[in-house]
Amino acid sequence: MVLPFSLLLLLLLLFFPVQEEVHKERREMMVKHTIEKRGISDRGVLNAMRTVRRHMFVPPELADRAYEDNPLPIGSGQTISQPYIVAYMTQVLRPTPRMKVLEIGTGFGYQAAVLAEIVREVYTIEIIPELGQSAAERLKKLGYDNVHVKVSDGYQGWPEQAPFDAIIVTAAAETIPPPLIEQLKEGGRMVIPVGSPSKTQILTLVEKKKGKTVTKSLLPVVFVPFTGGDQN
Ligand code: SAH
Repeated sequence: MVLPFSLLLLLLLLFFPVQEEVHKERREMMVKHTIEKRGISDRGVLNAMRTVRRHMFVPPELADRAYEDNPLPIGSGQTISQPYIVAYMTQVLRPTPRMKVLEIGTGFGYQAAVLAEIVREVYTIEIIPELGQSAAERLKKLGYDNVHVKVSDGYQGWPEQAPFDAIIVTAAAETIPPPLIEQLKEGGRMVIPVGSPSKTQILTLVEKKKGKTVTKSLLPVVFVPFTGGDQN
C-alpha cells in the first residue's frame, strides 16, 4: 500500500509528540524511582533532571535506553554517567542561579545541560575535538545559550574565566589538578573522582576554606580516565 505524501506527513507529525510524551513519562519515572528514592532532595536538581531531554544527549540508537539508570557508551571509548550520579554530583555542588560553574569532560553535554538549567553560566572543556564540537552544536541547537564549550586539556582549567563558584570533573584523575584548585573561588566546591582509572575511584568533594583546601571522600565510583595534564 502506498500512502499519499500528506498522510505520511500527518503520521510523522502525530508520531513525534507521542514519542516526546513517552520520553517525558520515562524521565518522570527515572526521577521518582532512581533519583528521589536514593536520597536526592535538592529541588533545583530534581527539576533539572525532569527537564533535560537526556535522549537527545545519547547516540540516536540508544535513545530508547536514555532513561535507564546506567552509564551509556557515547563513542570514542567514552561514557555518559548514570543519571543518579549526575544528580548526586550536581547536588554536591549546591548549585544556585547566580553561580558560574566549570565542567571538565563535556562528553555529549548532558551534565552541562543539567547544570545550565540551574546556574547562570557553564564553562565546559572536552579534550576529544569531535566530542567537544558535536556537544557544542547539540547544546546550541537545544537552546542552551549559557553553556560555553572549549576543546582543550581540562587539566589547565579555563584561566580567562576563573574564578568559578563550583567545578565538576567527570573523568577520573589520579590527583587533583592544582590549576583547578587555583581557579576555585574562596568558599567554592569542586567534585572530582580521584583514583586509578583501572580501579574504583573515590568521588571527592574539595572545598576552599580561608585559602585552605579541605577534601572529603563521598562514595566509590567508576569513571573513564582523565587523559590530559600529567596523568599520562
Ligand atoms: N560529562 C559527560 C560525560 C563525560 S565522560 C556527559 O554528561 O555526557 C568523560 C569525558 O571526559 C570524556 O568525553 C573524555 O574525553 C573527557 N576528558 C578526559 N580527560 C579530559 C581532560 N583532560 N580534559 C577535558 N576532557 C577530558
